[in-house]
Amino acid sequence: MPKVHRCGEHGCREMIPLGYRYCEKHYKQHYNDYLHQQSTRQAVEGYRYHTLRRAKYYDQHKRLNKDENADKENSVKDLAKKFRHKNFG
Ligand SMILES: [Zn+2]
Repeated sequence: MPKVHRCGEHGCREMIPLGYRYCEKHYKQHYNDYLHQQSTRQAVEGYRYHTLRRAKYYDQHKRLNKDENADKENSVKDLAKKFRHKNFG
């Protein structure tokens, strides 16, 4: 028995060696699809990574801003305290 089987593409009767999934024609077709898929996935993953990084940065930045605001509030209170001390202390 020859070690061949039919091309994996539906409706294609091309006989190809075992270990290959598609005939040359459909292999190329699927390879192009694969490449396209890969590039799309890479683009999607790149975008996701980018947005994740941005979200992380935003969190850190937000937290920093929050701290800064807390510091500002504290310093304003301190100033007010000092001011009050100066004038009414
Ligand atoms: Zn085929």
